[in-house]
Amino acid sequence: MIQTISGTAVSRGIVIGHGYRLQQGLVETLEISISKTKIEDEISRFRRAVRLARQQLRGIRNSIPETTRADITDFIDTHLLMLEDSMLTLAPVELIRSKHCNAEWALKSQRDALAVVFDEMDDPYLRTRKDDVDHVVNRIMRILLNQDNPEDGLLENSQLNGAIIITHDLTPAEMVLLQHQGIAGFVSESGGPLSHTAILARSLGIPAITGAHCHYDFHENDTLVLDGDQGLLICNADAATLKTYRSLQRKEQKRRTELNRIKDAAATTVDGIPVKLYANIELKEDIRAARRYCAEGIGLYRTEFLYMNRPDLPGEQEQYQHYCSIMKSLKGIPLTIRTLDLGADKELGAFSSRVASATNPALGLRAIRLCLKHVDLFRPQLRAILRASANGPVRLMIPMLSSNSELIDVLQLIESIKQELSDQGIGFDASIPIGGMIEVPAAALSASLFARRLDFLSIGTNDLIQYTLAIDRIDDEVTYLYDPLHPAVLRLIQMTIEAGISNQVPVSMCGEMAGDEQYTRLLLGMGLTDFSVQPTSLLEVKNVIINTDVSQLDKPVRKLLRSDTAEDIRQQLDHINSL
Ligand code: PEP
Ligand code: MG
Repeated sequence: MIQTISGTAVSRGIVIGHGYRLQQGLVETLEISISKTKIEDEISRFRRAVRLARQQLRGIRNSIPETTRADITDFIDTHLLMLEDSMLTLAPVELIRSKHCNAEWALKSQRDALAVVFDEMDDPYLRTRKDDVDHVVNRIMRILLNQDNPEDGLLENSQLNGAIIITHDLTPAEMVLLQHQGIAGFVSESGGPLSHTAILARSLGIPAITGAHCHYDFHENDTLVLDGDQGLLICNADAATLKTYRSLQRKEQKRRTELNRIKDAAATTVDGIPVKLYANIELKEDIRAARRYCAEGIGLYRTEFLYMNRPDLPGEQEQYQHYCSIMKSLKGIPLTIRTLDLGADKELGAFSSRVASATNPALGLRAIRLCLKHVDLFRPQLRAILRASANGPVRLMIPMLSSNSELIDVLQLIESIKQELSDQGIGFDASIPIGGMIEVPAAALSASLFARRLDFLSIGTNDLIQYTLAIDRIDDEVTYLYDPLHPAVLRLIQMTIEAGISNQVPVSMCGEMAGDEQYTRLLLGMGLTDFSVQPTSLLEVKNVIINTDVSQLDKPVRKLLRSDTAEDIRQQLDHINSL
């Protein structure tokens, strides 16, 4: 029977395909006592599960394409080594024998005992290996319980290729693994349009909906339709529904072909104002799309993705080589490298053991706060960025500034590293442009102070909206409050643009609002001339820019900014977009 599930549309596009349910979380188990006569059978059952786990991992290891990043294959090798270790293979056998318990319980007891040992380790890196133990334990446990293993789901490609993933939640790191497996779309229960996973999905052009609770028990052959425009998942679609969606897919294809015609056109308004149209990237793969749609530069490179899905931290040399290889692919267009924005919904990865868990992670030790507190984490990145600047146009951008003293601290640190590099005879661009992100209300209110010390500002509306309206960007319960047109948000944007103009410091916008074409005219009318958007939105935004006469916008934009109800603002926006 056809069933429609609705959620929040977070990444546009329509997919017709099969579903794949991704199970997540720790596997629960109960203690069952085993009679003496069955002990050897239970031990054999456990040994068989360990053997199968090894086979599974070797299979995954062999099926990974050669182009896959080394850190992903390294992490499989680590798990394979653990499956050889007596702590996981022999200790549970002893427990089954001595306690007469089931294999699952023995494995869980051994896992708990190991967790205590890991928690007490002084070495922060070794402490993080507890997660690896959990992954390996879960793998064996799922075999014992005849369940699918979620990591197979992330690393084996056969069922994932072209699949619509149905899951409770997806972290940005899991999203990266899944896109390597060719998933076609995803539906998750939690997360909102501004979660980093949703941003990543948009940037990769993977249709997605969040806040959708799908209990539908679909079968392998059922056809699912994911409508990322309307936020719908249609299970077991009938012929008429499929026909409608296929026709919508064709229309979208046609629209994109038409848009492609303007990819080489200059982003200049009808009245001759040149607009800088840059792209946001997260992964090296995004560069291809940025170049395909002729971005003039990269306005936001989210470096934190380099820190995910790996058991260790990238060192200075690795980062330097990585930045240089991105620059090489960019062929001379400017690259804005944002310094680490770890924390909140972007897991700390190998660094997690050094940071206490926060009650409100979005308000805690995140981004520049984390980097200033742990300079040993920050320093290699700053050195790598500065060294890379010797090889081409690089700009350095600082996320989540909230006070001038924080800015002064970062600038002093950068100066000291420049001095260090000079003393060591290592080259860098002495006048590398340094910019700050305006992502919290305090930063927007201090924009003119920041502008005096910085070479550029960039408005991060995703966080600016989150912090101004007090809505957690990953909580789907409050997604309905997310509103870029809220007068408070518009005033802070306007204040930042004006601070830039009066201090002759360029202001760009790199949050998702910049890439949503319904706001392009409004932003142009507010004086914004630098946009940095998802590569997949470049042409839509350019299309609006080249069809806009900014000289006509002054009056209606002022009227919109004076409006005080959501309906009125929406009406003014529709009017501006109809001009
Ligand atoms: C933003 O907050 O608008 C932004 C661009 O940064 P991120 O989405 O990575 O937090
Ligand atoms: Mg941000």
